[in-house]
Amino acid sequence: MIHRLIARMLPFLPKKVVWLFSRRYISGIHLEDAVKAAIDLDQNGAWATVDHLGEFITELAQVAEAREACLNALELLAREDLNVTCSLKPTSFGLLINFDFCYQAVREVVMRAGELGKMVRIDMEDATCVDRELELYRRLHAEFPKNVGIVIQSYLRRTADDLIKLASWHSDKTPVNVRLCKGIYQESEVIAYKKRDEINERYLADLTFLFSHGIYVGIATHDKFLVRGAYDLIENFGLSPDQYEFQMLFGVTPELRAEIIGHGHHMRVYVPYGRDWFGYSTRRLRENPKMVGQIIKALFIR
Ligand code: FAD
Repeated sequence: MIHRLIARMLPFLPKKVVWLFSRRYISGIHLEDAVKAAIDLDQNGAWATVDHLGEFITELAQVAEAREACLNALELLAREDLNVTCSLKPTSFGLLINFDFCYQAVREVVMRAGELGKMVRIDMEDATCVDRELELYRRLHAEFPKNVGIVIQSYLRRTADDLIKLASWHSDKTPVNVRLCKGIYQESEVIAYKKRDEINERYLADLTFLFSHGIYVGIATHDKFLVRGAYDLIENFGLSPDQYEFQMLFGVTPELRAEIIGHGHHMRVYVPYGRDWFGYSTRRLRENPKMVGQIIKALFIR
């Protein structure tokens, strides 16, 4: 009970306190911290996707920081011999302020990724962003099909229709690349499924759809039930490991991660870094209030 209450209070607690709870989810403040984490993951059999933290800006002048961060990350990652992609949040590129401005800034990043042989993943944010983020992907995918990917959230009621759209953009020459996740934002029942069983059922149906259309999927989950379901689907479709990958968040369920790698599947870990870690961390901690309780115990009960 107490940890649930604290988890709800997180946005109102001093940042220093939240940092105590958050640091296992964040690789550090600097790009070099993320690269160090990526090298470490590589040595343990996993790939990475690095994410410069930041979202919901209020002025277009702030876009330059997000764009420069991604461009710098791509340059540095291209110098390391690692399979690492970049993930970005379009709201930090001004999605909700000016779509065309956002498109041009993200395009610059994706174009550079293309020149360096890298890939950029467009994260999916709350339901007010979905149409715009899919449109961003549609346009960039048409121009740079192998250098950009998108995220689909199975908790959204609209997702089955969105998947049909994505499948129509997919071909051998223009492969669609999807990260499939449950979805992390607080949405109303009108927009999203709320029950765990319903979301899990939708997730496996979405995964089946994507596999049946030959689309590369980043299976992003820490849910053992879904991991087992994915194993079954991979076997039923007779897929080889280069047709999908599993994905997990930095600091979450490392044992399950090791198990999946041990079974011969590819694994990519989402590695966030940057000064703007507060929003990201409070979402993660609200998602797993028990951890708040464990940390409080470790801090106070000695
Ligand atoms: P859950 O049922 O939530 O979790 C299963 C188990 O995993 C839990 O029982 C617990 O043991 C463990 N676990 C889960 N979360 C935590 C945690 N924070 N700390 C410790 N243990 C935990 N969502 C979006 O809306 N947009 C995105 O772009 C997006 N990108 C993502 C990228 C990756 C690589 C991953 C893995 C997730 C991403 N998500 C994104 C979040 C996702 O939508 C879910 O909210 C999140 O993954 C939790 O769902 P789950 O499938 O792991 O299942």
